[in-house]
Amino acid sequence: MPQQYRVIVIGCGAIGAATTYWLSRRLGDDAVLALEQYELGHGRGASEDHSRVIRHAYSRSDYTALTPAAYQSWNVAERETGLRLVHRTGGLIVAARGSAGMEYIDATAAAMAASGLPFELLSGVQVSERWPQWRLGDQHAALFDPESGILDIRRGTAAHLALPASAATTSRRTATSSPTICPARRGCWSALGRGTSCSRCWAPACPSR
Ligand SMILES: Cc1cc2nc3c(=O)[nH]c(=O)nc-3n(C[C@H](O)[C@H](O)[C@H](O)COP(=O)(O)OP(=O)(O)OC[C@H]3O[C@@H](n4cnc5c(N)ncnc54)[C@H](O)[C@@H]3O)c2cc1C
Repeated sequence: MPQQYRVIVIGCGAIGAATTYWLSRRLGDDAVLALEQYELGHGRGASEDHSRVIRHAYSRSDYTALTPAAYQSWNVAERETGLRLVHRTGGLIVAARGSAGMEYIDATAAAMAASGLPFELLSGVQVSERWPQWRLGDQHAALFDPESGILDIRRGTAAHLALPASAATTSRRTATSSPTICPARRGCWSALGRGTSCSRCWAPACPSR
């Protein structure tokens, strides 16, 4: 039986899984289909294993303009699943004064300030006083991002794919393990057999995107 989807997402790594989840919330029932060529949660992609750094501390203001929304999105996934995905530890960037690393700290401070994000600039001595495991002196400086932490990427990806259709997420998400190919501009139906099509392709792995 032919089936029409508004969007077919190809690839169920962290990006495809989150895209599927958020598009499903926005577009409604049966609008989104997610396809993965290997088993879900496989270890061959970039989203394998347990941890990724999550932070506001980027040296470009186009990044720091986006990071609050990223945190908010993870908050939603945590609320809906009851899982803890983001572990806030605080993050420290340390550099020697006069080095390229110091330029990075200055750029990061400027970008975070432009986005109204909290951070602290510390001398090496202040770092050592607060965290004695660091033995730094006046030749060092640091930027502290209190919101930095570790994201459980494997759990987060699984959560985005597994969140059930509910009042908040009324769409159906079908994650299919199949030897998908994505023939550029010719549709994605070959993955599921003739007759399954979509009106738009959003394929993280597609070179023509
Ligand atoms: C070692 C390492 C450390 C990292 N550290 C950090 C960090 O600390 N902080 C941070 O923010 N980021 C970090 N990253 C980057 C982050 O992990 C990646 O940006 C992210 O996981 C990419 O997710 P993805 O969904 O785009 O790719 P992937 O996880 O690779 O997913 C792509 C999926 O598409 C599938 N696929 C491909 N082609 C097809 C097809 N034709 N049909 C069907 N399926 C297909 C693949 O099988 C795969 O499952 C790190 C990355 C690595 C590798």
